[in-house]
Amino acid sequence: MLRPGVLAHALTNACGAPATGGGPAVSPGEAGIRAAEENISSNLEREVVAVRKSWDEYFLDIAFQVAGRSTCPRRRVGAVVVADRRLRGAGYNGSPRRMPHCAEAGCLLVDGHCVRTIHAEINALMESAPAERDGATLYVTDYPCSECAKVIVNSGVKRVVYSRPYAVERDWLKEAPWIEVVRVSHAGDGGKIAE
Ligand SMILES: [Zn+2]
Ligand SMILES: [Zn+2]
Repeated sequence: MLRPGVLAHALTNACGAPATGGGPAVSPGEAGIRAAEENISSNLEREVVAVRKSWDEYFLDIAFQVAGRSTCPRRRVGAVVVADRRLRGAGYNGSPRRMPHCAEAGCLLVDGHCVRTIHAEINALMESAPAERDGATLYVTDYPCSECAKVIVNSGVKRVVYSRPYAVERDWLKEAPWIEVVRVSHAGDGGKIAE
């Protein structure tokens, strides 16, 4: 067994610094551990910032979630109205209230399009108050069709963010350059895009 004096000497040597002195003793070993911990912590913070979704991705995500309620199997679309980073309305394509869904009555095809449903954009816009959608952003999973685009132009919406492209007969949004249209990539891009 070591005598106390020998033990103190041994510790001093092991730490490379005297065990006594002014202020709290922080050995180089402890300082090294702390520096490593701080380094790990700041790396984690950087990673959290790197993986954090943008507001556009966040609200587009919600639009894709809303699309999960769609009742038309040909095309599942979701839309949300957002102003000041708050949800003001949400909608998916589905039959008018109390009318049979495509799943029950089958899709009602005209020129290759199912016309049984009210489109997601219209349902989302109708859920918001006029003052709420004035200057708002509309997030929609798919590029709006010609009919929805005309309603969007009149809705007060100033920005449209979508993910999946969609070929339209006439692009009314292009004729309204005061409305910003942005495509944001999303994991749902790979979904079925019907005509
Ligand atoms: Zn349908
Ligand atoms: Zn539409």
